[in-house]
Amino acid sequence: MTSASQHQPRVALVTGAGRGIGRGIATALGARNWRVLVNYRSDADSAASCVQQIEDSGGEARSIQADVASADGRATLLRESLAAWGGVDLLVNNAGMAPRQRVDILEMSEASYDEVMGVNLRGPFFLTQAIARHMLAAERGGTIINISSMSAVVASTSRGEYCISKAGMGMMTKLFADRLADQGILVYELRPGIVETDMTAVVLERYQRLVAEGLTPIRRLGLPEDVARACLAIVEGHFPFSTGEVINVDGGQHLQRL
Ligand code: NAD
Repeated sequence: MTSASQHQPRVALVTGAGRGIGRGIATALGARNWRVLVNYRSDADSAASCVQQIEDSGGEARSIQADVASADGRATLLRESLAAWGGVDLLVNNAGMAPRQRVDILEMSEASYDEVMGVNLRGPFFLTQAIARHMLAAERGGTIINISSMSAVVASTSRGEYCISKAGMGMMTKLFADRLADQGILVYELRPGIVETDMTAVVLERYQRLVAEGLTPIRRLGLPEDVARACLAIVEGHFPFSTGEVINVDGGQHLQRL
């Protein structure tokens, strides 16, 4: 086990947890006796309703407003996370964004590149660095889960900045896994495929049609619960001899098929 104590509830920080996949993960952890820090950037109502959902299921949660893309935001997030229950045992780097507009890579702007990389890669990298330092100082191990995407390996030329950010998160997973393993901190990467959330709402109909036509071996779209269940499998300690591991949660979409 990578946790501190079997008696004291462990503390999870989930970024971007007000809705979508992050909320699915936060509520699943809350229902299993984790204390959950629900990070959100701007939608205080959705974060409050996530906290309420966790409390309704008998768990404990607090919301923390912070933009993971900004250094100040990450400093606030770290400070308030440690103040809440004295430590963090699990970091889930979930917050992420698609490009505001899908634009061919020959037309992509530097502003869009910088924004997506800042939220999806630079932010999680430096947040992980800060939380890992705390975990090392606390000497009680820990777990880090990065929510990347099948876009880490599947090229979409109309959202190249997103693909690059998620591919970078793959290397980030390996780097921290290597650096932290000896101190009892294990790092994993979950690669969701197409999951029904606000992020995919704009392309939902097209994706539903493609899935019905056989795009994915398992012929349905993913749900936040699918990703949450993979997180639970990790944090319940069933992979004690694995780190830097990638788990695809994509209905088999990563399989090369003929
Ligand atoms: P979503 O848009 O529904 O949720 C993303 C959350 O992150 C939102 O609550 C948003 O406010 C928050 N967020 C965005 N930027 C932030 C910032 N700078 N600081 C703090 N919070 C911020 O999307 P989702 O589908 O739930 O995506 C969650 C993660 O899963 C993302 O990293 C995404 O790239 C990844 N993912 C999603 C899919 C999918 O099909 N939905 C597939 C693969 C990977």
